[in-house]
Amino acid sequence: MATQSNILIVGGGVAGACLLLRLRDYGVSAQIWDLPDDNRSSRRAAGLVNPFIIKRLVLSWKGQEAFEYAQAFYRRLEKQSGISFLDTTPVYRLLTHEEIRSQWEARRLAQPELAFYMGIPEKAPRPFPENTQRALIPRCFRVRPQSFFDAVYVLEGDSFRPEKFDYSALKYQKGAGWKYGGHNFSAVVFCEGTAVVHNPFIPPVFLKPCKGQWLITDNFGLEAGYLASHFFLPENTHFLFTGSTYEFQFSHAEPDADGREKLRKGLADLTREPLRIHEQVAGIRPATSDRRPVLGKVPGHEGLYIFNGLGSRGFLLAPLLAECMSRHILKGEALPPESEFQRFFTP
Ligand SMILES: Cc1cc2nc3c(=O)[nH]c(=O)nc-3n(C[C@H](O)[C@H](O)[C@H](O)COP(=O)(O)OP(=O)(O)OC[C@H]3O[C@@H](n4cnc5c(N)ncnc54)[C@H](O)[C@@H]3O)c2cc1C
Repeated sequence: MATQSNILIVGGGVAGACLLLRLRDYGVSAQIWDLPDDNRSSRRAAGLVNPFIIKRLVLSWKGQEAFEYAQAFYRRLEKQSGISFLDTTPVYRLLTHEEIRSQWEARRLAQPELAFYMGIPEKAPRPFPENTQRALIPRCFRVRPQSFFDAVYVLEGDSFRPEKFDYSALKYQKGAGWKYGGHNFSAVVFCEGTAVVHNPFIPPVFLKPCKGQWLITDNFGLEAGYLASHFFLPENTHFLFTGSTYEFQFSHAEPDADGREKLRKGLADLTREPLRIHEQVAGIRPATSDRRPVLGKVPGHEGLYIFNGLGSRGFLLAPLLAECMSRHILKGEALPPESEFQRFFTP
């Protein structure tokens, strides 16, 4: 194991941050270049860690393994940093129509192993109408992104360079590895999310960016989180998070009127109360054409790696995949084949 390696990470979203933490656990020194004010999907995320695709009633890719790994990883980070960022408020599927309820019941009966992810339907409490049903999503919690990054900085703040990475200044020297800013690095890992389109070493053949928007409004009395048309997650008794949209066609990365209307309509299905909008936020998810992450070596460049394509499940997948990436870089272990960057180059 190359414990003396010095690794450069480009991008300090959830991918880069988790990788930094894992490399440190392996005794490897790493530095991370992270542009403070560019589009950063991780800081715009709801932060749900949920291995079950609730609307399709199936497990997500690597769902169970990633969930268990993430839970232990985040708990350990909370303990080490002294900053709490996990929100374990229960989240329910709101079974608003008979069709949704009967599909839920039928799937639980047909696949008893999924009962682990699908609670038994029960009566929803006020403020919902008398006859509304809900079902618990037992394997689901939330990372509060800002506090997560605060925790990472407590442990690893000295490793962050809050600067734009200049690709043209990255030079390879045979025998010495990669040189940048006066330092030598044995490997460089690109974790830039959607900004990978500016990376001259990586053809962004995999990227299918997906814009997401959410609102913070008054809370109309929700004490638990709900999924109906969108997620409705109480921040506290005053504020409610509603989101997020999924938009593959968009012309800019800013919040817009269409997104606001979509989310407002979702809220109006739940309550007639007029709710004040306090904030509207937008971000771009680094989604991929085949909905799998993108990991591994950058073809044609020794010592260059990519860790990207986390789509809408970055907070679920990043801890486990950071572990896979660390072992791949340091020990040459194989990556999950479905996630290998190489798949885009083999016919
Ligand atoms: C509205 C919304 C809601 C979401 N909700 C959830 C959710 O509930 N649960 C979940 O798991 N996921 C969610 N996601 C998805 C999640 O945010 C992404 O999967 C994840 O953030 C991707 O992380 P990343 O580290 O790959 O990319 P990013 O978070 O985009 O990080 C990339 C970083 O690289 C930096 N960078 C780029 N280029 C350079 C450069 N040249 N120099 C220096 N730094 C650079 C950027 O500034 C950024 O900090 C959501 C996303 C959105 C937009």
